[in-house]
Amino acid sequence: MLRRTVTVTAAALAVVLGVPSASQAVPAPGSAGAGDVYYPEYGNGGYDVAHYDIRLRYYPDTDRLTGTTTILASATQDLSRFNLDFALATKSVRVNNRAAAFAKQSDHELVVTPARTIAKGAPLTIVVEYDDIPSNVVAAGFTSWNRTPDGALAVNEPEIAWWWYPSNDHPTDKASFDVSVLVPDGVEAISNGTPTRWAAPAFDGWSRWSWRQDKPQATYLTFLAIGDFDTYQDTSADGSPIVTAYNTRLDAATAAAAKTSVERSDEITDWLAGLFGPYPFGARGGVVTGAGDQGFALETQTRPVYDGRSFIRGSNNSLVVHELAHQWFGDSVSVGQWKDIWLNEGFATYAQWLWSEDQGEGTAEEIADYVYGTVYPADSAFWQVLPGDPGAGDLFDGAVYDRGALTLHHLRRLVGDEDFSAILRAWTDAKEFSAGTTPEFQALAERISGVDLDAFLQTWLYTPGRPDLGVSALAVPAQPKSWPQIAAARH
Ligand SMILES: [Zn+2]
Repeated sequence: MLRRTVTVTAAALAVVLGVPSASQAVPAPGSAGAGDVYYPEYGNGGYDVAHYDIRLRYYPDTDRLTGTTTILASATQDLSRFNLDFALATKSVRVNNRAAAFAKQSDHELVVTPARTIAKGAPLTIVVEYDDIPSNVVAAGFTSWNRTPDGALAVNEPEIAWWWYPSNDHPTDKASFDVSVLVPDGVEAISNGTPTRWAAPAFDGWSRWSWRQDKPQATYLTFLAIGDFDTYQDTSADGSPIVTAYNTRLDAATAAAAKTSVERSDEITDWLAGLFGPYPFGARGGVVTGAGDQGFALETQTRPVYDGRSFIRGSNNSLVVHELAHQWFGDSVSVGQWKDIWLNEGFATYAQWLWSEDQGEGTAEEIADYVYGTVYPADSAFWQVLPGDPGAGDLFDGAVYDRGALTLHHLRRLVGDEDFSAILRAWTDAKEFSAGTTPEFQALAERISGVDLDAFLQTWLYTPGRPDLGVSALAVPAQPKSWPQIAAARH
């Protein structure tokens, strides 16, 4: 009785003072970050995106990019305002049919204050209009938009979306995408997923290219490649469209070498599906840029983008295996925190070892011994970078790749082939179109194998120095035949 009286009094007081009760929170700003420990300001809080519709016009002669992105989202709290991650000059923002106030807070945070507050669970339609020269825009100390002699590339990790569309830029908020780009006639504009308009004449001298990704996609895995490309279209046995593209500035020998690898994407995808479970997406292919245009390959969803330079010395199927393995590990199952990056790169690297074994160019065991015993001697600085927590500055250090793959190989030895295979398939199944963390992977692997992995993962992922394999004098292993290609494909 006393308690009840106090409750009533407190509630009455709350009404007088305007203090929120649990069921009627005062709308508050969404956070400026998604809670990433390495990148606290990447992504945002307070809403969840379901779909991006990105409509652009690009002028290759001047690098001018104009456009409108419409975001369909829902509020995850009562919202007074929220942030978008975006670096370009913004002309207008509308939220739920009303003009919204907006202000740049830092080089990539756009603070949007809607005319009316948004209730938790309510739909949000956000329309952002913009016009800028992306190659002039510096954020986080650099310009990720990459202007090329015949167009531009929006391909990078983790920072790229800010230079071409506003977003909730963290892999934990995935969405479907429509990307539609007007370019001058004769210029190609290639993106993820299924082509819905292919060089469709728009108006005098301009054509529209439209792409649809209906499966959840992380913002950094959404790409745009504009330029002069030779393109090829086919259909996979499962009915998905295959689109491949090669920049016309590639010399004939490099273009031919690139094709011998990238034209096998469909077959390699099927081979990987045999290891990891069904291919998660409804489109396939690959894009090869001019030699040196970007200096790396990236596992952009459904259609990795490769640098032509990777094929200057000939084909590199191992690189294609790496980027396509990421379709499971990185794209369908994304990192829950950027510090979990080994869940992407260790797995994609290990897929290369398995491909080597399949091709008779060195078994995974031989490669593991070679990496452990020869490539990185015990006193190498390599062993000081922790794959499970490399630090933002070493996100793509060799240790994330090679020690990450070694971790998987020794996990396989510990739990046996059968459980190891079951772990990989259960992980891609449980986390499909989602995100996962290392502790979640450990819990799943322990459940399947029945093995306590605390000490094992502590040693391999979180302890400096070369793990002791209990071998006093390891013979120096010979270099597996596949090693040069594997080493050239650390992307
Ligand atoms: Zn990779």
